[in-house]
Amino acid sequence: MKIGMAGAGLSCAVIGRALAEDGHHVTIFESRSHLAGNCYTERDSETGVLVHSYGPHIFHTDDDEVWAYVNRFSRFLPYVNRVKATTQGRVFSLPINLLTINQYFGTTLSPSEAQAFIAERADKSIKEPANFEEQALRFIGRELYEAFFRGYTRKQWGREPTEIPASILKRLPVRFNYDDNYFSHRYQGMPEHGYTHLVEQILDHPNIDVHLDNALHRSQMDRFDHVFWSGPLDAYFDHQFGRLEYRTLDFERIHGEGDVQGCAVMNYCDESVPWTRITEHKHFSPWEEHEGSTLFREYSRACGENDIAYYPIHLTTADTVLKRYQEAARKEEGVTFVGRLGTYRYLDMDVTIRAAMDAVADWRTQYG
Ligand code: UDP
Repeated sequence: MKIGMAGAGLSCAVIGRALAEDGHHVTIFESRSHLAGNCYTERDSETGVLVHSYGPHIFHTDDDEVWAYVNRFSRFLPYVNRVKATTQGRVFSLPINLLTINQYFGTTLSPSEAQAFIAERADKSIKEPANFEEQALRFIGRELYEAFFRGYTRKQWGREPTEIPASILKRLPVRFNYDDNYFSHRYQGMPEHGYTHLVEQILDHPNIDVHLDNALHRSQMDRFDHVFWSGPLDAYFDHQFGRLEYRTLDFERIHGEGDVQGCAVMNYCDESVPWTRITEHKHFSPWEEHEGSTLFREYSRACGENDIAYYPIHLTTADTVLKRYQEAARKEEGVTFVGRLGTYRYLDMDVTIRAAMDAVADWRTQYG
């Protein structure tokens, strides 16, 4: 069969590879001038540092199959994300762990003491947290919420934390030990040569053609037996029900020498600081050596029509526009909507790959 795909990110790479191996002919259209979507990496021309051009991407998963899959195409080297946060004039360790708690409150609590201490500060009148703020107040109390989450979340989402779902805070663990690993998954690492190389390897198959700088439009779909669409869901339907809201990011490059901030990711939780975080990319490749250093300040803002969409904005209120698009997508024949933009979900890379594998299995059952 002739398969058309919109987008050369992880979703279409994984699906395209599987269908190419099944003997189908896959043509991928990518509106940007490069592969790998927002996990694109490239070497900084001045320092040689491998840069995550669209912000930090750390691969972590609990899924054996997904981990085996990515390791088939690239060697992954050990990397553990240990984030730091500057707030109220001091630096702390994130996610909130025993060191964060003891340093913030000036205590020397043991794990069980810290648990009891935080439980005292938690707002137990909130039985079922209905939003981000309630989730924070219920589980960590007001001081830690205001120090680490309120300002950052308002900057990141441009909304009140009461409008943001509790699930966003649940991405971050709270630990009553000194484990400062940002993720709790069994597998974590970085592709040795970056994500662009990983995606190149996945797409390296004689049955796959990629056209960069070339967007697929719905009107061209009849050239294919089936289309996988990883572009924005609303763009597929020419925004007929209105625009889905996203956050976009602006990056401001800083050049330095040696080790400028001492870690890969430093969050800035105070609202008086306009950026959300600074990333020093050389720390993502600890096996490399570079004299110069490339850092980016990251700013979040509402995504305009010509901006790159990063984060879909899910609010606690029902999204009627999204529902209309989802309904239209269900009815659309010959198209499968995939990925972060195609399904309007806040997806980590491993979940994106898992969803792509599942889309392949579904497609094979139906058409294979
Ligand atoms: N968050 C926060 N303060 C922090 C880090 C995260 O308030 O220092 C909140 C914020 O709302 C963010 C969410 O937790 O959007 C999820 O954080 P994560 O680090 O997973 O975000 P990502 O790296 O995907 O942007």
